[in-house]
Amino acid sequence: MVRFIADEMLGTVAKWLRILGFDTEYAREMKDEEILITAEREGRVILSRDKDLCSTAIKNGLECIFLESANLEKDLEMVLSSYPPTPEKFMSRCTICNSKLVEVEKSEVKGRVPEGVYKRQDRFWYCPKCHKYYWEGSHWEKMRGFLNKICE
Ligand SMILES: [Zn+2]
Repeated sequence: MVRFIADEMLGTVAKWLRILGFDTEYAREMKDEEILITAEREGRVILSRDKDLCSTAIKNGLECIFLESANLEKDLEMVLSSYPPTPEKFMSRCTICNSKLVEVEKSEVKGRVPEGVYKRQDRFWYCPKCHKYYWEGSHWEKMRGFLNKICE
C-alpha cells in the first residue's frame, strides 16, 4: 500500500488519509530538504501545496502530488484518484500519531466514551499510543457520500 508524506499545509488532508488507512507522515516543522530525504528513504509519495517543492521532488525522481485547492474534498479526490482507498482499511490509523488502531469490543469502552456515543455506535477502535478511542462520528456521515462516490 502506498505511503505518503504531507507537507505542513496539509494537516486535514493527512488526518483524513490516516482515517482511510494510509500510512501518512505529517511533515510538521520539517524543512523541504528533510521532506525530500524522508520521502526517498521511506518510499513515500509527497503531497504538497508548494510548487517549488514539487518540482524539486520530481527532478529528484520522487513522486509528488501537487494539491492546489484549499478544499478538502478536492484535495482528497486528487490523491484518491491515483490511489483509491480500500474500505476494509478505514479506521485503521490514528489521526494524531499514525499508529495502527486496534478494534475493541463495545463493552470495553463503556464509561470511557460519551454516553450518547456509546448508545449510537457499535464499533470502536483504540490507539495504544495516544490512549484515544475512535468511532465513526458525525464527521464520517458527512464524508460517506463522498467516499462512496470515490470508491465506485
Ligand atoms: Zn495515536
